[in-house]
Amino acid sequence: MVMGEWVEKAACVSFPTNIFYPEKGHGAAMAKHICWHCPVQLDCLTYSLVQNEPHGVWGGLSEQERKDLRRTMRRRYGAGSSPTLWRNGLNDYVGDGNQGAQARAV
Ligand code: SF4
Repeated sequence: MVMGEWVEKAACVSFPTNIFYPEKGHGAAMAKHICWHCPVQLDCLTYSLVQNEPHGVWGGLSEQERKDLRRTMRRRYGAGSSPTLWRNGLNDYVGDGNQGAQARAV
C-alpha cells in the first residue's frame, strides 16, 4: 500500500512533526487531538497498520494502541487477514473529521 492522495489532506502537515513522535514520558494528547479532527484519519490509520509503522502517532493511535488494535482485528477478522479488510471495523476508532472517509469506505 502506498500513500495516496489522502496525504494532501492530512491535518498534521500544519504542525511540527515532533508532536507526532513524542519523547518518552511526554504524552501524545496533542497529536491525538489533531488526528481526531483530521479528515483522513481512517486512511492514515489503515495505512499505518498495513505498513506496520513502529513509531509515532498515526491515525490517532500510539504504537501500543496500534498493536492492541491489530490484535483485536486479527481476532475479529482472522489471524491472516489484511488491515485493508479491517477498514469498516476501523470506523469505531476514528473521530469526527472522517465522515468523508467513512462514506468512501462503504
Ligand atoms: S490522522 Fe493524524 S497522523 Fe494521520 S494524517 Fe491525520 S493528522 Fe496526520
